[in-house]
Amino acid sequence: KANRKFHPDDSVIDVEGVKIGGGSFAVIAGPCSIESEEQITYCAQRVKAAGASLLRGGAFKPRTSPYSFQGMRSEGLDLLKLARRATGSPIVTEIMNTEHLPLFENVDLIQVGARNMQNFELLKAVGRQKKPVLLKRGLANTLEEFVMSAEYIMAEGNENVILCERGIRTFETSMRNTLDLAGVVMLHKMTHLPVIVDPSHACGHAWMVPQLAKAAVAAGADGLMIEVHNDPAKAKCDGAQSLTPDQFDELMGFIRKEVEFFGKKM
Ligand code: PEP
Ligand code: MN
Repeated sequence: KANRKFHPDDSVIDVEGVKIGGGSFAVIAGPCSIESEEQITYCAQRVKAAGASLLRGGAFKPRTSPYSFQGMRSEGLDLLKLARRATGSPIVTEIMNTEHLPLFENVDLIQVGARNMQNFELLKAVGRQKKPVLLKRGLANTLEEFVMSAEYIMAEGNENVILCERGIRTFETSMRNTLDLAGVVMLHKMTHLPVIVDPSHACGHAWMVPQLAKAAVAAGADGLMIEVHNDPAKAKCDGAQSLTPDQFDELMGFIRKEVEFFGKKM
């Protein structure tokens, strides 16, 4: 179902009226984690004003250490919905457990994170519901494995899958991961699904994010996911890679022109 061979045309995924793929470009932005009502609402307003069409914010966080902030969980989801009501932006947030699915009924785009890319029961479960799914590439997964994970979701009946390249593990240690832009080009050959790029998790350094975001657009990405925090130095998660709202606003000025240059709409 994901194979380009049987679907020559690009798929366009509609997230509450926001189109992604086939010439439609969308930017997802917001903090790594929801931390308070003020924080998520402020971030939501700023990223919307800068031109982001979807709001992200993690409530259930897959942290390396069990002693790190685990997210505000269902309370965080409620705050994210308040931010949606304040801005009108559809919301994107990560699910880690099939048992949490009822909590995600009202989420506009359900994210399956890198660490769960091959959690096959979770993939089947999000495939059995109707909301679109944002599937992130696993930390060390091949493109073939990535597309097969999309296939798991689609095989259950939900063909609204967006792929996200977010950097992979390599021998390089100066960046959090290595952004595989060639993989974006290859994915577009392998599949008709939209492919977006998350430069924030790919490199781990806020100062690098603008250049990687621009490169992603040039590589044919159908969208971007960018972490933006009101006060990155105090962020509970991923502050080092988060842009300030002002930095994001400046970046979006370039992205808009670049998207137009490549003949896409946003
Ligand atoms: C995230 O988007 O906050 C996240 C945890 O990303 P990834 O699964 O790509 O590490
Ligand atoms: Mn993050």
